[in-house]
Amino acid sequence: MTAIETRLLIGASFEPGEEQAEQILNPRTGAVILEVPEASTGQVDRAVSAAQKAFDRWSLTTPAERSAVLLRIADRIEREADAFAALEALNCGKPIGLATNDEIPAIVDCYRFFAGAVRNQHGAIAGEYLAGHTSMIRRDPVGVVASIAPWNYPLMMMAWKLAPAIAGGNTVVFKPSEQTPLTALKLAQILAEELPEGVVNIVTGRGQTAGNHLIHHAGIDMISLTGDVATGKKMLDAAARSVKRTHLELGGKAPVLVFDDADISEVVEGLRAFSFYNAGQDCTAACRVYAGRKIYDNLVADLTSAAASIQLAGADDTLNEIPPLISQRQRERVASFVNRARELSHIEVTTGGETMEEGYYYRPTVIAGATQEDEIVRREVFGPVVSVTPFSEVDQAVAWANDSAYGLASSVWTKDVGRAMATASRLRYGCTWINTHFMLTNEMPHGGLKQSGYGKDLSGYALEDYTTVRHVMVKHG
Ligand code: NAD
Repeated sequence: MTAIETRLLIGASFEPGEEQAEQILNPRTGAVILEVPEASTGQVDRAVSAAQKAFDRWSLTTPAERSAVLLRIADRIEREADAFAALEALNCGKPIGLATNDEIPAIVDCYRFFAGAVRNQHGAIAGEYLAGHTSMIRRDPVGVVASIAPWNYPLMMMAWKLAPAIAGGNTVVFKPSEQTPLTALKLAQILAEELPEGVVNIVTGRGQTAGNHLIHHAGIDMISLTGDVATGKKMLDAAARSVKRTHLELGGKAPVLVFDDADISEVVEGLRAFSFYNAGQDCTAACRVYAGRKIYDNLVADLTSAAASIQLAGADDTLNEIPPLISQRQRERVASFVNRARELSHIEVTTGGETMEEGYYYRPTVIAGATQEDEIVRREVFGPVVSVTPFSEVDQAVAWANDSAYGLASSVWTKDVGRAMATASRLRYGCTWINTHFMLTNEMPHGGLKQSGYGKDLSGYALEDYTTVRHVMVKHG
């Protein structure tokens, strides 16, 4: 592997951060990979100035010009796919096969999707809505976007944020998570070569320092965050001061409604994949199962064996199916949720509930007999932990599913199409899958309701979120 990039990108220049160095750890072992210094407030200020300066020209480029750049970025990531995958795997502990075969192709396709979408936008019809005047609708960029990403899919979240923002003609100051900056800093080299100076700037650092300075900056027009609900509230506070636009993708606690007529082997196969993928560090993870009473016992038994069969922490990484948790802190957080649940007499931890010796691994865990009031059913764990709760009536299952502060993703499992459609229509979630879960595609929107935030990633809707509607009226004669 070539030397790992640790410098910030400000305008056209690469420079080391001027503040405290952050240790970047390998979650598989806990070893330090290297240190990345944080951006100083002065460096954040210069990144915002560079983005402001670049906006004047970038916002006037044509969709075709921006599309061409996005396609080149996609091609270059694809060309270096193995190096990006290896770096992401190193920094996040992801099994290399998943980084290579799942994440990188989806990232490349995200840039390609927005390259096409920006050339094919639709809107209201121009015409004489007032006699003697022609009205038309424009979609123009918002301005300078502060983009702030989490640690669970670093390069993919960067793609979800950068591609629609720059497609829409905005300029960006991007801050990766302080725990996982490495692929963003590698991509900086490609961005600097393919984009005009200052269109994308990358600053490193923690939320309370570099991030906090960035979101409060008067030169920022829009804040885009994928992160925790508590962090989202800080964005809203910062945005309120100067009325910045916000785009918030916050957590989730996805309900999974399994009816008695569902194909149990498909449900179990689905949950094995979609509950534990990325060690459950996924805001759509299928983590809150409600199962019909007739299917409940078999489902718990089969899911328990399936979860126990998941490969992790093996020396041959190509066989591993899930990564460790991102940090010791995250593992302690996950373990404390399970330990508190275990103390309740009605709950049984049927598999997992244990840490492993090396690294930040946590065994896939199934918690049977949980009730709606239990913390493990209500709060986001963000780890490889699934609760299963029996239900008798569909109304009860729907009410429990909707009884959540979150509203991101959900799924319904049944062979009865009518029941699936009727149930999906009653769920208050940004996405409902039928007989599957977790599947995303760049053409379809991803985003939440309630405290899961608002604003859509992916699809033409994201392009709408990163642009603003304007009315231009021309008086005749
Ligand atoms: P986090 O909120 O702690 O951090 C996210 C980002 O915000 C990081 O870059 C962090 O440095 C920054 N940040 C934190 N405080 C800040 C502040 N005061 N000012 C500016 N920036 C600040 O979240 P995390 O722990 O990195 O990620 C996990 C969370 O993200 C989970 O709750 C998860 O559900 C959520 N998430 C949501 C989605 C989605 O699409 N809805 C996707 C992935 C993750």
